[in-house]
Amino acid sequence: MRQALLSAVREIAPDFSFIGSYVAGSFVAGQADEIEIENPVDGTLNFSFADAGETVAHQAVEAAEKGFAEWSSMANAARGRIMYAVGAEIRANLEPLAQIEMLTSGKPIRDCRGEVTKVAEMFEYYAGWTDKLFGEVIPVPTSHLNYTRRDPVGVVFQITPWNAPIFTAGWQIAPAISMGNAVVLKPSERTPLTSLLLALLCERAGLPRGVVNVLAGLGETTGQSALAHPLVRKVVFVGSPVVGEHIAVASARHLKPCVLELGGKSANIVFEDADLDRAAIGAQAAIFSGAGQSCVAGSRLLVQESIYDAFIEKVTQGASQIVLGDPADPATEVGPVNSRNQYRKINGMLLDASDEGGVLLSQSKTGPGDSGFFIEPTVVRDVSNTMKIAREEVFGPVVAAIPFKDEADAIAIANDTEFGLAGAVWTRDVGRAHRVAARVRAGTFWVNSYKTINVATPFGGSQKSGYGRSSGIDVLREYTEVKSVWVETAETPAAPFGYGSNQAGVGA
Ligand code: NAD
Repeated sequence: MRQALLSAVREIAPDFSFIGSYVAGSFVAGQADEIEIENPVDGTLNFSFADAGETVAHQAVEAAEKGFAEWSSMANAARGRIMYAVGAEIRANLEPLAQIEMLTSGKPIRDCRGEVTKVAEMFEYYAGWTDKLFGEVIPVPTSHLNYTRRDPVGVVFQITPWNAPIFTAGWQIAPAISMGNAVVLKPSERTPLTSLLLALLCERAGLPRGVVNVLAGLGETTGQSALAHPLVRKVVFVGSPVVGEHIAVASARHLKPCVLELGGKSANIVFEDADLDRAAIGAQAAIFSGAGQSCVAGSRLLVQESIYDAFIEKVTQGASQIVLGDPADPATEVGPVNSRNQYRKINGMLLDASDEGGVLLSQSKTGPGDSGFFIEPTVVRDVSNTMKIAREEVFGPVVAAIPFKDEADAIAIANDTEFGLAGAVWTRDVGRAHRVAARVRAGTFWVNSYKTINVATPFGGSQKSGYGRSSGIDVLREYTEVKSVWVETAETPAAPFGYGSNQAGVGA
């Protein structure tokens, strides 16, 4: 492992000597093939480790089942106190966690510091929910008392991608454990370290061993082995639509419910009456932050025809001033994309866009992969919504700028996509803002803003962006199962024959 990375890891785990899965409180070496991961900054070897494999995957699930027994029988408020302490551990280790995130993902250090802070907030937020979700007493037409309980699901298996590794791990783990569940999480093989260390910090804060386990390995091997284990009761997947489909099929084969948080092709709609300076800054932040490697990225910029040329000029001007460079430099605003594959895919999509008639502005001037995976923020103008660049997720710093005529046209173009994750509108007309927010199909929508999300509000999508919700109060329903309890209260109950029997209580 690269020295800078190893030093940062040892600030949190002084005895750390190899990358392995975190199972029941220990690092366990993988038993399958070796995986090598490149440094996004220069393409050299960043770290390597052995894929966990089936045996370790099963050990993790079995450890989680034991952890679940202990965790779910604790007092709710006691669980909340521990979760709050997890937040404190994360805050105390913010700098090494941010450094490790930066060194593995390639994201600018200032973004990584912000994202680690958000993870602490996630544990603190859900710490408060441990004793606040309760059932109901339901009036029934018999002599019974009927009430509902919300019970934890059990062992939840979560799979996460590389674009915001610790942020996504916290986003998934915190609500799951707040409801008394235990977790096996498999982060992307490209960025396993911060998730592994998060599990260690959870235990340092007082979480029983086995409540949070993290698998270091590949999806198709380690991931599928864990998913298939009979003790896994629910699957949560965050990643691409292609892999999401595999997960949905595999979950269905085992009759396991799943939540899918997939990609997007979100429309960022700018009307002629908007504050165009703010909208231009918003449009850049929407697509270029995180080098465009964000599921909610505003990758389709819909601009009203009357201001199209002037607005594209403004955004392109802004894009050319973005500081692209070494993620370790605090001044850097955009770093490299995460992998050589991603670098090649994005450049290929830019070529295709040009072939289809798109005009590339501030196009990548950097060399091939071995000098790092840097791509300059790029605006593609004169795009129609039928072009590949407008239909497929690029997952890079590339925005497709599409002109529209009027409100109806903007909404039609925004909804002409297979995705349904996010979107935004920029306008000074309050009525129009609400009309567009109501009619664009998206799980998250912004008015005169972009990209703000918070653990307190629901997040998720529809169609190829997936299904289910993974934050706010809505996710607590994903992580609990409702049970209906019938208590006979009559002194002489009627014989219980058939559904709706015990008519003794009717009308009494
Ligand atoms: P990916 O689908 O390639 O991988 C995601 C995870 O799935 C990784 O951990 C990977 O190891 C695992 N995996 C791969 N094949 C698997 C298999 N056959 N079985 C089980 N697991 C498997 O995605 P990625 O390239 O890591 O991430 C980028 C994608 O994630 C983009 O499409 C992006 O939009 C999406 N994303 C969505 C959200 C959201 O909340 N909606 C958030 C972040 C990223």
